[in-house]
Parts: sequence; structure tokens; C-alpha cells
Amino acid sequence: MAAPYCASRFQSIRRKSRMVNIGGVGVGGENPVRIQSMTTTDTMDINATVKQTIELAETGCEIVRITAPNVRAAEALGEISKKVRSHGIDVPLVADIHFMPNAALEAAKHVEKVRINPGNYADRKKFQIREYSDSQYEEELDRLHESFSPLIERCKELGRSMRIGTNHGSLSDRIMNRFGDTPRGMAESALEFIRIARSYNYHDLVLSMKASNPKVMIEAYRLVVSLMNEEKMDYPLHLGVTEAGDGEDARIKSAIGIGSLLLDGLGDTIRVSLTEDPVQEIPVARDLARRANYWWSLPSREQDEVLEEVDPFSFSRRQCDEINLSKAGLSIGPKHPPSVLAKTKYSPSETAEIIQEVAKVQVGSKDTPVEGLILSLKHSSELPGLAILRSSLLGAIPFFLIDDIRKETDDDSIPPNRPNLCPVLWHSPHAAKDAASLARFLTLCEQAEQQPILSIDPYSEDETVASILANADLPLILTLNSEKSINPVAEYRSLATFVSQLGLHSPIWIRNDEPSRLFPDDDLFSGRILDSSILTGSLLCDGIGDLVSVENAGELDRNRGLAYNLLQGARARISKTEFVACPSCGRTQFDLQTTTQEVKKATGHLKGVTIAVMGCIVNGPGEMADADFGYVGSGPGKIDLYVGKNRVKSAIVQKDAVDQLVQLIKEENKWIAP
Ligand code: SF4
Repeated sequence: MAAPYCASRFQSIRRKSRMVNIGGVGVGGENPVRIQSMTTTDTMDINATVKQTIELAETGCEIVRITAPNVRAAEALGEISKKVRSHGIDVPLVADIHFMPNAALEAAKHVEKVRINPGNYADRKKFQIREYSDSQYEEELDRLHESFSPLIERCKELGRSMRIGTNHGSLSDRIMNRFGDTPRGMAESALEFIRIARSYNYHDLVLSMKASNPKVMIEAYRLVVSLMNEEKMDYPLHLGVTEAGDGEDARIKSAIGIGSLLLDGLGDTIRVSLTEDPVQEIPVARDLARRANYWWSLPSREQDEVLEEVDPFSFSRRQCDEINLSKAGLSIGPKHPPSVLAKTKYSPSETAEIIQEVAKVQVGSKDTPVEGLILSLKHSSELPGLAILRSSLLGAIPFFLIDDIRKETDDDSIPPNRPNLCPVLWHSPHAAKDAASLARFLTLCEQAEQQPILSIDPYSEDETVASILANADLPLILTLNSEKSINPVAEYRSLATFVSQLGLHSPIWIRNDEPSRLFPDDDLFSGRILDSSILTGSLLCDGIGDLVSVENAGELDRNRGLAYNLLQGARARISKTEFVACPSCGRTQFDLQTTTQEVKKATGHLKGVTIAVMGCIVNGPGEMADADFGYVGSGPGKIDLYVGKNRVKSAIVQKDAVDQLVQLIKEENKWIAP
């Protein structure tokens, strides 16, 4: 396995990086996580670009990137910079360069930082398959050295910094042929450039490893840090999920990718890419950054070395028992995608309301039903309602009871010895409190043929409890009561490790329950999306999690919907069309926000199909990664359509392009009637 990439996976400890100065804003070192964004205006429209730069800075954006698609646009950056400064705004500016070394050399004269893409700085992509011998590969690196050196020398001379910004979708043919379309390929793509910069003693470098798939992006960042550690490099990281799209799905994907890495202690500056007005990116980025700054401010504790089964550099699903909850029609385990539980706001005494609510939700969401229902049982007077629910339509849906009434009665015998009142499943938050109560609970479950679900303390050192768990006759489902936890991801990782040390293979239930309100001024709604995405996404991308519940988002339907969106964001369960949409920039050939909405409206019912909407032909086809279909701007008012990486229709008039896309999907037999 590769070298460690973080100080601990069981507490959030910030990686030590060097500080890079970007026009007076320090990135890395002890600096807070910096927030950045990118303008979407045509760079040659200087006034519009200046206006948007100022708006971004005034909203809290600390670094603003502007595309420089050619030398003329790079020259325009000088004028833009002057005008922005004349308004008293000193936000550092970054030129975004693809393919054009000459534009980079020009831009370095005017802005504080230059971003290059190592996949296309010195290479044209031809999707060629070819074997490179070691000497041929060395020759390629010499060619790279020659193209890249002038920019290093210029940046060194002018005191500019640089981002080596790898994108999963635009790796060079050289890298693809040697390392494949992999996190390793992404990491090597950047390291080749960094080694050249170091040979000039130039170190004002920041790295990024962006992908539209958070799982790929997480692995690539972890791997590049591990490889940098081996070579004693400490360059700061710019985090981002690229082409995330818009709305809730984009926020979920960004929080999964960026939030998981921040929790691992990685990341010095972040950009949340949204296909929306870039100003909308800032509050999301700020909420993520302040979570990181808070986690990292907590004192770290001494910790014994922990041996995990998870390989953080390569995804595989954690192995566990298959549990067939056939009475309720639900099977969980590694062969099944994680199942969705959702909480109703009603209590068992409001039986009629529950039945109505569930019926409404299930009818409206045939492909994404509630697979288990969470009920809160607070008082023994609510027990009779369970009997009615049991004999109602809910006979097909397992119950998960929380807020154990034994809190009130301290009576372990309720409800397992009252099978006529029992729910199909029984969740006992306190069952593992002490050994005697745990043993009694497991016996009762066995007698009543109940599936035991235990909320346990993964840090328990009680050997009797451990031995009872290890010798349980029934398969167990395990979860945590993480309501008050500051780092529930670490606790679930500890749970998975604890379980494997006991020789158990219990499925794990990830609960998004009421979060402790660490940030009272957070927007409640968006704060919960971010927290749920970070918790669920981090674990799912590690392969941990067989049941996922959302208990805090509101109505049953909303809890259900958010749970499926979290699973889709982590690519753990695909239940609807996956959209990849670039955030747009000065190269964009059409109104990306409106067009993305039109494409979504026409194709949003195609489960399992990935559709990319990309603003330009220069980067779009490369960056749309693993999309099945691509809608790409090829000129003013003109669209090209792609199937995978192949362009199949060119220069379609934009007003016909959505219809033509639908036609193409039909021709490829991927269409279903809405
Ligand atoms: S794909 Fe979109 S964001 Fe990327 S360069 Fe083209 S228009 Fe700009």
C-alpha cells in the first residue's frame, strides 16, 4: 500500500503544507482554508469581467480566476487587473490556461497566479493508443521540460505562483497510455510538472486533482499527497469537484469530495463549482471551509496505531454478512446497493397519518421507495399504534424504532416479549450499555425472532460486551448514536475497525440524525445537506455503509429523497440521470444555466444514464469524463453531440439541439418513456 496520506483517519488533523503567497493571500501553512471561484463572463468583455470579479470579492471570494483562452485574452487581464484595483479591490487574480503556453507567458505579466492543466499544456489530445518504451517516455519528458521551463522562469522572475491543475477528464495521451485513466495517472500527471519546477528551485506551487466523480477525486488527492510525502514535497492543495452541475446534487457532490478531504486534514483552498451564478458558490465554500477550520482547531489526542481493513486509495465495498430481512422484503449486504431508510415525523399513535404519508410517498416514487421506516417511540402509550401499523400496508416495510421507550420505563422486556406489538425490527440504542442488558436483549431478540440492531460504542473496552458481541448467535446490524459527535466519520470508521477486530462481519447503518448545531448561523437546510453529505459520502467512498437513513431533513418524502441523492452523489446507488455540467467560463458558447435546465427537463427520468452539458469544444469533450452523452458548445449558437468520446452530430442549431439529443438517446437504445 502507498505511504500514509494523513496524520490520522480517526481524528481531523491538518496536513502540514508550505505557505504559497498569492498576491498577498497566503495559501497553506497556518492560513485558513481560502475560498475561490471563477468568472463566467467573456474575458474580452472587460467591464463585465471586472464587475463580476468585484461582486465575487465583495461576497467573500478570496482568489478570483479568469480564463485566458488566447494571447489577446491574456493581454486583457492587464486592463482587468488595473480596473479591479482602481475600485480598491485587491483580490488576487489567476489566469486559467489550457493548451496555450504563449497565453500563460503573457498572463504571468498581469496576474498573481497562473493555472495550467498538465494534461494539455504541452500535449494535444489525440486519444492515441501507443506503447512508450522507457527511453521514449524520457524523450517525452524532455519535451515537456522544454515547453514548461519558460513559464517557470517567468513566474520566478515576477514572483508569480502557479497551480498545476490536473483534471481527470483531460489527462494526456502519454499519461493515459502509461497509467490509464486512474487516480495514479492524475497524480503522476502533476508530479511530472512539479519535478521540472523543482529542478529550477521554484516552489510557489499549488496542486489540484479534480474529477466529476467524488470517489475518483478523493482517491487522487489522497494518492498525490502520499506520493508527495515519499518525495518530501509539501505543496498546498486546491480542492474541487469539477463539472458538479447545479442545485442540491452539485452541493452534495462538492461536499462529499471537498468535505471528506478536509475532514482527512487535506486542503488549503477550495472552489465549489456550480453551474449557477458564481456568487452562489461562495456561501457553500464558506460553510465547508469553516467546518474544516473548526475541526482542525480541536486538540489532537494520543492514539494507538489502528489497523483498518479499508484501502483509502482504491475503492472496494467492505465485506459483511448478507442479512435477508425477507419478512419485510429487504436484503442488505455487499451484493446489494445500500438501502434507504427514512424517518416519518409522526409517532406510532398517529398511525393513520403514517399510513397516509407512506402511501403517498411510495406511489410517487416507484423506483426510489422508502425501504425502511424510522419511527420515534417516545412513550408506552404509543405501543398500540404499532399493532395497527403492523397489520397495515407497512407489513411490507420494516420498522426501525428509535428513542427506545426503555428510557422511560427501564423495562428491557418491551417490546420483544410482546410480538403482537413488535415492529419487524428493533433498534436498541442502549442495548450495549452493559453486558447483562446486552445478553438479555439478544436472548429476547432470538426468542421473538427479531433482528437485533445495536447502537454500540466503538471505543468500548468492556471485554464481556466484546465477547457477547463476538459470540452472538444472530447476525447483528450495527450503528452509532452520533447525535453529539463532532467527527462521526471517525466514529463509524472506528466501528468498522472494532467489528473486524471482533471477527464480526456486521452490516453498518449510517444514520444522518439530528446534527449538533456547531454553526448556529448556518442556513439550517444547507448545513444539514453539507453535514449529511460529508458523513455519508466519506463513508460510502471508503466502502462502508449498507443502510443509510436521513432523519433530519423534514418530511418523510424529503428524507427519502435526500438519502437517494446522497447515495447517487457518492456513486453508491444510481437512481436517476447523472448530470455533469461545467460551471461555464469566458469560453462558454451558450447560456449554460438555462440550457442545463432544458436538458434536465427532457432527460431527467433516464435512470443510470450520464449526460454532460459542456460550454466549449476546447475542453468540453475532454472534461466530460465518463458521460454516456455529451452536449457541447462548438461555436456561437452551435452544438455538437457526443456518444461517449465520439462526436456524432456537428454544428446543430441550438434551438434543435435538445430534440436531437433525445433522438440520439433513442437511437442508442437508452431512452425510456417519461
Ligand atoms: S468546458 Fe466549460 S468551464 Fe471548461 S473551459 Fe469550456 S466553457 Fe469553460
